[in-house]
Amino acid sequence: MSNPEPEASLPSEPLIRYEQPAPGVARIVLARPAQRNAQNRSMLYQLNDAFDRAAQDDEVKVVILSADGPHFSSGHDLRDDAPMSDFTPVSCWGGFDLAGAEGWLATEEEIYVGLCWRWRNLPKPTIAAVQGRVIAGGLMLVWPCDLIVAASDAVFSDPVVAFGVNSHEYFVHPWEVGARRAKQMLFLGDDMTADEAHRLGMVMEVVAPEDLDARTLAIAQRIATRPMMGLKLAKMSVNQALDAQGQWSAIQSAFSLHQLGHAHNRERFGIAVDPGGAEVIRRDSAVSIDRTTDQ
Ligand code: ZN
Repeated sequence: MSNPEPEASLPSEPLIRYEQPAPGVARIVLARPAQRNAQNRSMLYQLNDAFDRAAQDDEVKVVILSADGPHFSSGHDLRDDAPMSDFTPVSCWGGFDLAGAEGWLATEEEIYVGLCWRWRNLPKPTIAAVQGRVIAGGLMLVWPCDLIVAASDAVFSDPVVAFGVNSHEYFVHPWEVGARRAKQMLFLGDDMTADEAHRLGMVMEVVAPEDLDARTLAIAQRIATRPMMGLKLAKMSVNQALDAQGQWSAIQSAFSLHQLGHAHNRERFGIAVDPGGAEVIRRDSAVSIDRTTDQ
């Protein structure tokens, strides 16, 4: 596959769609399939606006996150150079343009771990409907969702250890797949199939690709028959159990190490990632795909 053309999307260019496919159900669709739904900053903020819209619409009880095209998301778009001043921060971070590790830390706090944590705590059930490749930053859209329905062709991976950092920025791997499988996933950058993710409890159900949308909508509609209050309290209860296990502390701790990795790479190579990473992944990969990987 050839590299997608470098793009220069404007903050106003629609990179997602917001749909209401049934009463009580909102569907947010990643709509950048030509770039395999690689996430630039515009897409992340549009996604955040869509999640906020769903959260604030009292008629919406369940939110589906899905994606156009053969691949759910190839990760973060490393070609993105949109200045942070184009966007309104959702958290009280500042100093995005400062030199050294400071600006980089602030930016990743805001657009990566900060946004993921907002979506994880959306006060309504969320369902990710996933097909094809889900690479690194792609997992940062899927894992904050409450349930994951996968097409049988879905493949999950986080290969960014090859770039000299610990993982992508939302470190919940041990909770999603277990500690040993998390280490395998990270050390080797291996693919995880939909069936394996289902066996591990990460994926709720594996369906034929042509059934993904209909099956996910049917699940959402069933959930939407429950009272909003019960759904919200149930979600908060499970999330608070994860909090009691120390999930947020672990995310923050791993994020700090992630910043150490970036700082090391900048000192050693002059850029935030080890430049040998792409070649390591290319050698490993049996499948040709543009890896617009997480940074
Ligand atoms: Zn990073």
